[in-house]
Amino acid sequence: MKAYWHSVFLHKEKCTGCTNCMHKCPTQAIRVIDGKAKIIEERCIDCGECIKVCPFHAKDAKTDVLSDLANYRYKVALPATSLYGQFPTEYDMNRVMNTFLRLGFDEVFDVSRAADIISAYLNDYVDNAEEERKPLISTYCPAVTRLIQIRYPSLIDNIITIESPSEVAARQARQLVKAKTGLKDEEIGIFLITECPAKVTSIYKPLGLDKSQMTGAVSLKSIYPRMLKLYDSMTGDMVDMQMGSGVGIGWGRVGGQSYAVDIDNYIAVDGIDEVTKVLDKVDLEMLRGVDFIEGYACVTGCCGGPLNVENPFIAKSRIRKQAKKPPIFSDEELKSMCSFENIVWTNKIEPHQILKLDKDFKKAIEKMTKIEALHKSLPGLDCGACGSPTCRSLAEDVVLGRAKFEDCIVRKGAK
Ligand code: SF4
Ligand code: SF4
Repeated sequence: MKAYWHSVFLHKEKCTGCTNCMHKCPTQAIRVIDGKAKIIEERCIDCGECIKVCPFHAKDAKTDVLSDLANYRYKVALPATSLYGQFPTEYDMNRVMNTFLRLGFDEVFDVSRAADIISAYLNDYVDNAEEERKPLISTYCPAVTRLIQIRYPSLIDNIITIESPSEVAARQARQLVKAKTGLKDEEIGIFLITECPAKVTSIYKPLGLDKSQMTGAVSLKSIYPRMLKLYDSMTGDMVDMQMGSGVGIGWGRVGGQSYAVDIDNYIAVDGIDEVTKVLDKVDLEMLRGVDFIEGYACVTGCCGGPLNVENPFIAKSRIRKQAKKPPIFSDEELKSMCSFENIVWTNKIEPHQILKLDKDFKKAIEKMTKIEALHKSLPGLDCGACGSPTCRSLAEDVVLGRAKFEDCIVRKGAK
């Protein structure tokens, strides 16, 4: 099995080598080599920042297309919570959900309903956690969890080991469809309708689990125009969908999880740069007294995901309104739909070291010394003209054989 699988990829022919993505990548995963962006696999967390900032649309996320549904006898759509922000508030969301049936799906499981179930457990989980694990950090945004793996290994014990709502929805859908149809696993296709490259990656490289219950993912932006057309043209009876309550829908925006947990001592932070600043403080033990942190790589939360269509702030405002929808079930009823044992991770996640200098400790120290010396001899402008995001990263690249010292055009000009 390949060590890495990333949804984010480059359309090489569209890339002009402008370096925008390289400068914005939060993990310094991008280099520009021979005029084209290149992603260093072990560093990428699939946050999608490079998709958002590329002026030439050269970055995108690998997803499935509707014709892939034909490979399965029974097809289930799992619309992400952020779907609720993508349509004007006067739209009937039940009708929106029915468009999935016309697109070729046999059934729809609203991820917001699974978020309701997780919400019913989350308050107790936070209340009962050992104080030394706090602040507990949500794993709902997989890009943030992967950022913790590579940059904050000391915070791995703080993360909440509960599955994502989409995973819980997929498990429920699979069980119900199998019981109803008698079909085998491989005959059932369960597709996340998603806004997020990191969630796509988690289907193929799951966090905390051996295998995802999802088959694949379809990006919302790829089907949105057809959904709008179907919404207007559909006639006949609509199926009454089982949808989430305001609490579950609220997960689609920053602050929604904290509202679900119903505690005062929380931090809800959005945008990968701000998330990094908050995690820096947790790492330095400067946030004592905070019980819970929800962080999102995308500004406004999942409604700001790069595979969505709506302006993130408009989407957030719509979700805020829909999050007022009253509860449909009591916590006890929600818990009876899925036991706690069925929503917790089975595997512990490990730190993921990205700067592997050498297996041999002595050689690694020598390489580190070399990096320090090279770094000191570079101009310190972090201009990126060499194709590496900072002078420090160029020094690392030179020692790791990924670049040459002469790539620094400032040094070259000074000679
Ligand atoms: S932002 Fe990155 S991917 Fe887009 S054109 Fe510039 S270098 Fe290429
Ligand atoms: S997806 Fe995020 S981490 Fe990966 S290359 Fe793009 S900006 Fe960097």
